[in-house]
Amino acid sequence: MKTDRSAELLSRALKVIPGGVNSPVRAFKAVGGTPLFIARAKGAYLWDVDGNKYVDYVGSWGPMILGHAEPSVVEATSKAIERSSSYGAPTEGEVKLAELVTQRMPQVERLRLVNSGTEATMSAIRVARGATKRDAIIKFEGCYHGHADYLLVKAGSGVATFDLPDSPGVPADFAKHTITLPFNDQQALEAVFASRGSEIAGVIVEPITGNMGVIAPPRAYLQRMRELCDENGSVLIFDEVMTGFRVHPGCAQGLYDVIPDITAFGKVIGGGMPMGAYGGRAKVMDLVAPAGPIYQAGTLSGNPAAVAAGYQTLDLLGQPGCYDALEERCAELEEGLVKVLHDSRHTGRVQRVGSMLTLFFNDGSPVENFEQVKACDHAKFAEFFHGMQEKGIYLPPSGYEAWFVSMVHDADIIRNTVEAADTTLKLLD
Ligand SMILES: *Cc1c(COP(=O)(O)O)cnc(C)c1O
Repeated sequence: MKTDRSAELLSRALKVIPGGVNSPVRAFKAVGGTPLFIARAKGAYLWDVDGNKYVDYVGSWGPMILGHAEPSVVEATSKAIERSSSYGAPTEGEVKLAELVTQRMPQVERLRLVNSGTEATMSAIRVARGATKRDAIIKFEGCYHGHADYLLVKAGSGVATFDLPDSPGVPADFAKHTITLPFNDQQALEAVFASRGSEIAGVIVEPITGNMGVIAPPRAYLQRMRELCDENGSVLIFDEVMTGFRVHPGCAQGLYDVIPDITAFGKVIGGGMPMGAYGGRAKVMDLVAPAGPIYQAGTLSGNPAAVAAGYQTLDLLGQPGCYDALEERCAELEEGLVKVLHDSRHTGRVQRVGSMLTLFFNDGSPVENFEQVKACDHAKFAEFFHGMQEKGIYLPPSGYEAWFVSMVHDADIIRNTVEAADTTLKLLD
C-alpha cells in the first residue's frame, strides 16, 4: 500500500506542528509506521491522501456513529453555517438540543454546552467541588477524562501509550487532590471512602471504559459507587463522553440503570463537530453561572453549526430500531472475531458493549482493569494493526483503544473485516 503522500505531509507537519499531529494518538507511535493523512470520508469508508480506501473503525474516535458525511447531518450543519457560524448569543438550536437530551434522559434536568469532552469533565469537576466545598476527586487507573491538569493522572490510552503516568506541566499541588484507584475494585473504593469520605468532592468514572479498551464492570460496582457517594455527600460524575448515546439510547447509565449526579458528554453529542456538554439534576446544575456562583463560560459554546450537527445526529438515533440494528451488526463482528481468533494459533479476548469493541491479545481471560490491559501483547496488536491496514481496514492505532462501529457498517463490511482478521491472524508470528 503506497503512503508516499502521507509520508510527505508528515515531514512537512513535523516542521510546524509538535510531533506532526494535533492529538498524540494520531501519530501511530504505539504501532509504528506513517500516520495516514485523510482526504475525505463517506459512510463507513475513509480515503487517504494517496487514494487508498479503508473501512473506518475509528469513526473520529466515537462521534461518527451514523457514518461519515451523513446527508441530513451535512445539510443541517451547512444550513446553520450559511446563517453564520457563530453569534455569541443564545439560539433556538441550543434549546432544542437541550430539550432533546433532557427528554431522553430525565435525570439530566439542565444541560450546559461546551466545546469538547475535556471542557465537559473539567467543568463537571468544578461543579462537584463547588457544590461540596471539598477538593479531593477520585478517578480510576486507565480512565481518561480529557487533558485537564488534575485528571491527567494514570489516564489510559494516549497517556499509557506514551508511558507518561504524569505529564510534565501538571503541578504536584493540583495532582495531589486526585486520588487514583484501580478500576473495578470495590474494596479499594470502600477503603478510601472509609478513611477520607468527608474530603471527597466527587468520583469521576467511565462507566464502561473505552480509553483502556472496552471494560464493562459489573452493575454492583457502579451501584456501590452510587451508594458511597450518597452516604458521603460526594458527587458522582459519569464521564459518558465516549459511551454517551453510543452504547444505549440512555447512555451507559441507561444500560446499567445507575444514575449519576452529573454526566459529561462529548463525541456523539456533537455529531462530529467540536462540542461537549455536562448536565444533571437542577439542584447541582443551577449552581453554574449565571444561575449560581460557579463560573464557567465559552465564546463558541453552543456553536450553531455544532448544535445543528449534534441535534440531527441524536434525532436520527432516536428512530425506532436504530440501536437494535447496530447491536446485531456488532454482535456479528464480535462472533466473527472470536471464531477466527479461536481458529488461529493466537489467543485473545474480544470485549464489546454495543458498538464499542476491543480485541485484547492475552491468554483469553477477561480483562478487568488497567494492569491487565497493560499486560496484553501490544507488539502483537501492532502487527495485527498493520496487517489489517494492508487489507484496507483502519483500526485505532493502539491496543489500548476501542474500535467504533457505525450504523452504515453493513453485513458485507463486517464479513470482509472478519475475513481480513482471519488472514491477518494466520500471517502473524
Ligand atoms: C474523548 C474523551 C474525553 C475528552 O474529550 P475531548 O473532546 O477529546 O476533549 C473525555 N472523556 C472520555 C471518556 C473520552 O473518551
